[in-house]
Amino acid sequence: MKITVLSGGVGGARFLRGLREHVRSAIPGAELTAVVNTGDDMWLTGLRIAPDLDSIMYTLAGENDEARGWGRVGETERVSGELRAYGVGWPWFTLGDLDIGTHITRSHLLREGQPLSAVTERIASRWPLGVRLIPATDDEVETFVTVEGGELHFQEWWTRHRAAVPALGFVQRGVEASAPAPGVLEAIASADVVLIAPSNPVVSIGTILGIPGIRDAVATTDARVVGVSPVIAGAVVRGMADACLTAIGVETSAEAVGLHYGSRASGGILDAWLVDSSDAASVVALADAGIAARAVPLWMRDPATSAQLAADALASAR
Ligand code: GDP
Ligand code: CA
Repeated sequence: MKITVLSGGVGGARFLRGLREHVRSAIPGAELTAVVNTGDDMWLTGLRIAPDLDSIMYTLAGENDEARGWGRVGETERVSGELRAYGVGWPWFTLGDLDIGTHITRSHLLREGQPLSAVTERIASRWPLGVRLIPATDDEVETFVTVEGGELHFQEWWTRHRAAVPALGFVQRGVEASAPAPGVLEAIASADVVLIAPSNPVVSIGTILGIPGIRDAVATTDARVVGVSPVIAGAVVRGMADACLTAIGVETSAEAVGLHYGSRASGGILDAWLVDSSDAASVVALADAGIAARAVPLWMRDPATSAQLAADALASAR
């Protein structure tokens, strides 16, 4: 059985960890592939940083800092301190020393001329992740946020301003000329199930779907497409995705996000949509819109609840 997941960083990583856990016992031999957002990637102090790919890799490797929610466990920040002393980079954007090792490796291999997909395969081979990671694109597509008076790089808006500067919209620079990375369209077309992780619908999943060819592949795959809401009871679970939804005119509710993705029968991407038990009231409206919705617990508190969520998502595909 082939399962392909469209994923952002932290929410996607937790979901993928649960999915891996579930299939290990329930569907041995299942092939898991994650198509990962690269819209948050950037060059900083000569290094190519790919936050979502790394969040997933560290989480699946068991190397993530669970308490902080991002980065490597046991991290130190000596190099960032030096960069700050020299006045290079962004003083509000701290990179851990172990993490910088990943970025140096990635940047080195990219400068040798390898595409990001090959570089990612090489970097990820260090750990037995159990999930094949493919960047959505090998091209440099970077998200900028339109704010009053100009544009901010997504990382500046998110990390420096904590999404507090009102966003008027999002621009994925370079997206029109970008192409899906090798293997992406095949992973979607040949899958038995396509899952949309509970990731940011705008700057994670939205960016992936914006790469020419990917939305069409999801809309036309023979696989069932099941999404998981990142919104529970009118609020995002972690992070600031509500500010992104507001900017594109979508209410922060499980129902509105499901309708925003839309049913495949009417030009959207979903066959089924999981909302939290507390959002059970939205199931009828979603069904009316052609989306088979189910209410189940969506909080990924620990490996067991994450694995159960993955099991529920696969059950909705049947
Ligand atoms: P990022 O790239 O690190 O921002 O991560 P993603 O785009 O993958 O995911 C961010 C989204 O994950 C946020 O909108 C959260 O609401 C959602 N999220 C995080 N933890 C959970 C959880 O336990 N359950 C659900 N349903 N969503 C979650
Ligand atoms: Ca991200």
